[in-house]
Amino acid sequence: MSTYWSELTESLEPYVPGEQPKDRTYIKLNTNENPYPPSPKALEAIREAAGADLRLYPDPTCDSLRETIAAHYDLTKEHVFVGNGSDEILAFAFPAFFSATRPILFPDITYSFYPVYAQLYRLPYETVPTDEQFRIDPKSYSVPNGGVVLPNPNAPTARYLIVNGIKEILEANRGQVVIVDEAYIDFGGESVVPLVAEYPNLLVVQTLSKSRSLAGLRVGMAFGHPDLIEGLNRVKNSFNSYTLDRLALAGAIAAIEDRAYFEETNRKVVTTRERTTAALRELGFEVIDSLANFVFVTHPVKEASELFAALKERGILVRYFNKPRIDRYLRVSIGTDEEMDAFLDALRELAV
Ligand code: PMP
Repeated sequence: MSTYWSELTESLEPYVPGEQPKDRTYIKLNTNENPYPPSPKALEAIREAAGADLRLYPDPTCDSLRETIAAHYDLTKEHVFVGNGSDEILAFAFPAFFSATRPILFPDITYSFYPVYAQLYRLPYETVPTDEQFRIDPKSYSVPNGGVVLPNPNAPTARYLIVNGIKEILEANRGQVVIVDEAYIDFGGESVVPLVAEYPNLLVVQTLSKSRSLAGLRVGMAFGHPDLIEGLNRVKNSFNSYTLDRLALAGAIAAIEDRAYFEETNRKVVTTRERTTAALRELGFEVIDSLANFVFVTHPVKEASELFAALKERGILVRYFNKPRIDRYLRVSIGTDEEMDAFLDALRELAV
């Protein structure tokens, strides 16, 4: 605590991201990064952009990137917003669409940044229970509320809700905004981006951090009715006009355009995920079926906290959440086949 902090700063409980350790080289399976490098075309575009033009501000409306994204998703650029990672888009969306009078709803087990944003903007929220298998019941979102936010697939459970389930939530909440956070949708789920034409209350948020291997570039995108996009722009332009720099714009455009590379690396991640899931089940783990680039696993006997520590000692970093309901689970990002083999070998060594 500092004498100079505001009352708000003092009350904050900031989000804690997964470790990015510097003490040694780990097999990093803890922050859902992509094990494959970004598209060579994206890297080339970033190198080309690293020139004299960096003395100039970037385009504040990010028109070429938004046009590229819109063309890729069959929309117009008026339906597209981009930000410095999808976290920043979420940070704009909360004050843009939610208010202090009615609570925001999100699942009890979900991305732990949502309550942090609510707290920052002093917005009330209520969590909606998932069932014992962490499944989301769309019907439980048919209660009075001031807006809904949920990831699909959910994090960290990897549970996927079918499009009709999302539709049910959208139908029941026509008076307020429903944010579907599709950070992990490209690994096998069906996106609801096409529904933005039908539902003016739908905002879909995606990221280039996972399926396009660009966590380090910080680019997120959102899709919605032009009124929602304008709402996001009003907040953004009350905060920072230049959220995406010239390198990010250039790299993101090239990454979106390189569809073949995106599809190839996603296919590899999915194949490795299925192989890893089968091997973990053989070792006695319960693995929730995943359509993401991570698996959420528990063992009937072995404590997750102990496995986490023992794996870390062996140079393998996974994610452990010491929280109610999920403290017997590990979240394991999907790496390369070699990385997952090392992870599975370490588990065998630990006599799991
Ligand atoms: N949403 C979910 C559900 C996530 O897991 C993450 C990654 N931590 C994000 C959003 C944010 O990703 P980024 O800011 O890198 O786009």
